[in-house]
Amino acid sequence: MARKVLVLGEVRDGQLRNVSYEAVGAAKTIAEGGEVVGVLLGASVSSLAEELIQYGADRVVVVEDEKLAQYTSDGYAQGLIAVIESEQPEGLVFGHTSLGKDLSPRVAGKLSSGLISDVTYIEVEGGNIVFTRPIYSGKAFEKKIVTDGLIFATVRPNNIAPLEKDESRTGDVSTLSVDIKDLRTIIKEVVRKATEGVDLSEAKVVIAGGRGVKSEEGFEPLKELAQVLGGAVGASRGACDAEYCDYSLQIGQTGKVVTPDLYIACGISGAIQHLAGMSNSKVIVAINKDPEANIFNVADYGIVGDLFEVVPMLTEEFKKLKV
Ligand code: FAD
Repeated sequence: MARKVLVLGEVRDGQLRNVSYEAVGAAKTIAEGGEVVGVLLGASVSSLAEELIQYGADRVVVVEDEKLAQYTSDGYAQGLIAVIESEQPEGLVFGHTSLGKDLSPRVAGKLSSGLISDVTYIEVEGGNIVFTRPIYSGKAFEKKIVTDGLIFATVRPNNIAPLEKDESRTGDVSTLSVDIKDLRTIIKEVVRKATEGVDLSEAKVVIAGGRGVKSEEGFEPLKELAQVLGGAVGASRGACDAEYCDYSLQIGQTGKVVTPDLYIACGISGAIQHLAGMSNSKVIVAINKDPEANIFNVADYGIVGDLFEVVPMLTEEFKKLKV
């Protein structure tokens, strides 16, 4: 059954986030040959429409308003609901990001619709669109189908492959004028955490440090390896609690969930709460002094050794491969 599916293009620092392209890929599957319509909300975002089309959207609807310059859930909900009312889609896909997690339940609630969040896989099975999502902190997966009403879904970054970018694709870009009512939330100032390098939640390679790194300086060899591999540095809560690094790096049940192509855990014991945030990574390498450490139970490759010897060795070897 062909469906019209909307995809919210998420913009950060004037650029579309990668997960938006993955969401377009997800929308294509849900649309089953129907139309995929990108939605852009913001103050001046129309220049990004072309890119959504090149990644597979058939056309794009833009809502521009100064009140949407900064994300607020009431402002974005007003803009998005107006697009939904005008387009009457059968489905809507968001990235499972901080923005998507905040906005999607609000919009779904206002439209009295259900929501399937944190989807990692979508397939068509027996005439149904089947959504797979992790439950119980990643210990099990459940499959869901929508039998009635709108299909609302958020897709976890780095799980659903985007379509190949096709620069020859073209599509209509239209503007919807929406009267954004006064916002109850007023953003006075945005204070950004000074994070270096690649965004952790979208990184293809994550080098994570645990209490085993022993100090703030202990993260330096991990940063060097991350730089050589073009990856991001993450951490266990043990390392954050010990003040070796900022909590924005925490991975796990109460931190970020990451699914990179390569996850290198350095000096992390592998507590269940940590595994909840990284066990779906494609390849897991664990470096730990303790051969009995639980992290080896989820690792594809285990290195029993001192991380301060092993990590610099890896960095040197990867440097040679890059030359
Ligand atoms: P440890 O368990 O102390 O492990 C350190 C490891 O380093 C050991 O295995 C040791 O053998 C190894 N090591 C030491 N020195 C070296 C060396 N030189 N070279 C190599 N290896 C070395 N944790 C999270 O990570 N994320 C979460 O989101 C999270 N949420 C939680 C929520 C709740 C409600 C609770 C109760 C706990 C949560 N935790 C979370 C904490 C979790 O239970 C663990 O305490 C934490 O993950 C341990 O961190 P760690 O592995 O770095 O430290």
